[in-house]
Amino acid sequence: MGKRLVELAEIEVTRLKGVGEQKAKGLDELGIHTVLDLLMHYPRRYIDRTNEALIRELAVGEEAMVLATVKRVEARRTRQKRTMVQVDVTDGSGYLRCTFFNQPWREKQLKAGTQAVFYGKLEVFQGRKQMTNPVVDLIGDRTGKIVPIYPQSEKAALTTWELGGWVEEALRRAGELDDPVPMDVLDRFDLVSRDAALRGIHVPESGDEANVARRRLVFDELLRLQLVLVRRKRDLERTSVGIRHDLSGDLVRRFHEKLPFPLTGAQRRAIAEIEQDLAAPVPMHRLLQGDVGAGKTLVAVSALLVAVQGGHQGALMAPTEVLAEQHHLGLKALLEGFSLSSEGDLFGERPLRVELLTNRTTAAQRTKLGERLAAGEVDIVVGTHALIQDKVAFKSLGVAVIDEQHRFGVEQRAALRDKGEAVPDVLVMTATPIPRTAAMTVYGDLDVSVLDELPPGRTPITTVWARGPLEEEAAWVRVREEVAAGHQAYVVAPLIEESEKLEVRSAQETHEQLQHGELAGLRLALLHGKIPAKEKEPVMDAFRRGDIDVLVATTVIEVGVDVPNATVMVILDADRFGIAQLHQLRGRVGRGAAVSWCYLMGGGNTPDSEERLGALERTTDGFELAEVDLELRGEGTIMGTRQKGRNDLRLASLRRDKEWVAKARDVAFQLVDGGLDRYPQLEEELDVLLPEGDEDAEAAATEFLFKS
Ligand code: ADP
Ligand code: MG
Repeated sequence: MGKRLVELAEIEVTRLKGVGEQKAKGLDELGIHTVLDLLMHYPRRYIDRTNEALIRELAVGEEAMVLATVKRVEARRTRQKRTMVQVDVTDGSGYLRCTFFNQPWREKQLKAGTQAVFYGKLEVFQGRKQMTNPVVDLIGDRTGKIVPIYPQSEKAALTTWELGGWVEEALRRAGELDDPVPMDVLDRFDLVSRDAALRGIHVPESGDEANVARRRLVFDELLRLQLVLVRRKRDLERTSVGIRHDLSGDLVRRFHEKLPFPLTGAQRRAIAEIEQDLAAPVPMHRLLQGDVGAGKTLVAVSALLVAVQGGHQGALMAPTEVLAEQHHLGLKALLEGFSLSSEGDLFGERPLRVELLTNRTTAAQRTKLGERLAAGEVDIVVGTHALIQDKVAFKSLGVAVIDEQHRFGVEQRAALRDKGEAVPDVLVMTATPIPRTAAMTVYGDLDVSVLDELPPGRTPITTVWARGPLEEEAAWVRVREEVAAGHQAYVVAPLIEESEKLEVRSAQETHEQLQHGELAGLRLALLHGKIPAKEKEPVMDAFRRGDIDVLVATTVIEVGVDVPNATVMVILDADRFGIAQLHQLRGRVGRGAAVSWCYLMGGGNTPDSEERLGALERTTDGFELAEVDLELRGEGTIMGTRQKGRNDLRLASLRRDKEWVAKARDVAFQLVDGGLDRYPQLEEELDVLLPEGDEDAEAAATEFLFKS
């Protein structure tokens, strides 16, 4: 028996040789307090000293990494009062000048004689090879074929050499480490032992060894995360009593028969998956993913009707009042003329009742509706997400559908549980396509159904990126032509993230300009987030009726608005939106049989606009776009909120390690269902590395998704 990894979490780094108060402070800055922290501080790259680039051989424009010794340092001020530190270095083959702007500490850090690795793009300035603001790694006088380069902080001033030395000492003194993952799993995926992996990542003999080690450690990270998620899923299933819905009624069948079109294969599959969940004693917790227009509403209604035909009630919740109202109208139209058998009624039948409950419902109406819900006189209630959090008492809520909500967390589920002794089945719907493996992580405790097929007869939307003024003019001509042909259009005003006020103003200005310019003579209306709900609704109504030709709006139209007669969308400053958001916006057109267009204006201002806007021109497949999105989002561009708390996902990256997510998830199910208590070391690791369980796993999963 070797040591357990978590034992190392109890040993302070100060126990290592040479870690005094000063060094401990530096380590603290890197988040390293214990020996375990140190061993999980993995190298960010390696230099292969058998294969080093020589300064003499570097080509201009090339990204290169050179190991060199500092010869001379000089600090100055530029005319713009910026500090400039010039460091001349050599590797024996030639000289290189590294110029640092606004990094005054470099003067102290890079004293003559210091050995360091410089990583940057080679330029030539005044006939001299130079790099501007290269990445610097101090390595001290370390020898060895493969030198690990550790992430360092500027201020800590610890060399990669020092870190490597402590790591080696820690590995030596720890001795052999136990492996908590069962042998058969390791064999199945051809993974090396934990012990070999930790040694291999820190002191590899070859690049290959480092890769093999990395693979094992990535697997461990993903497995731990999946274990937390799967365990949570199973716990919830075990501790809640659900409703076994009766599938024998004929309401759902009648509903499907009355539709003017057949269900798509994907809809039938999703409905079957949901019905299986509904009939089971365990409460359903399922995510329905489907691109805009894929027909999620019918799937949702089918689920609600299963509840209703068995004598229970259904609730449909939307993120905004406008959407709730729209769903309410839609459901009423779909369910018009349906009746239920009823004992209390003379004819044994009563109409199916669908009601709306939002903040605009008056207090008196609310009381009345509450009474009817409690008495079971309302079958389906449509409202905002607040519906389940409010003190609404149902007679028997059987199925809750939540539209356009990406997270339906533990808290909300607890609220649902309090509604009665039996927990209603929950279906969460989203039109945000997420690649499968990402969904497994972020929604690790949900089951997922996917509508990956659009109803037939849709004319695909033609998307045009208007790259110049001529194309822009053509777009406005198209808007006028479509309106002349009796259709309608959306214009999306520039997104201004910094301030809603500015965004509103920009929408107002856009409206003004178009009304007096490109779209003069057409009936324009304006919609933005600062317009009170009371005034918004008449505008939406008028647009739905066709009394407005062009709706100029901010992204308030992003989700769910459904006006099939709208056939053109113009998105201004399209470059400011992300792929996912553009795709969502575009989904507002192409909802009817008529040919539709989407024009993306502006762009070319960011380096990847070609890829982003180009991808939208090329495809309307949301899942394909989601993959492109993921590919494009490089490290650091996404969230400023990274590095919050402790994160167990240090090595794993969704881009590089996609295939391992599914493998880890399979294993997690196998281990949890076989009894996780048979693996006390794994359980213990979850406690130590993902201590707060739920939220931490959630945060880690989300971060993982956004990290490159
Ligand atoms: P989503 O909510 O997924 O964006 P909706 O449920 O609003 O999509 O459906 C979009 C449109 O497609 C609606 O007008 C709906 O009537 C229509 N629709 C749904 N399913 C089908 C189908 N199987 N065949 C034809 N049209 C369908
Ligand atoms: Mg919808």
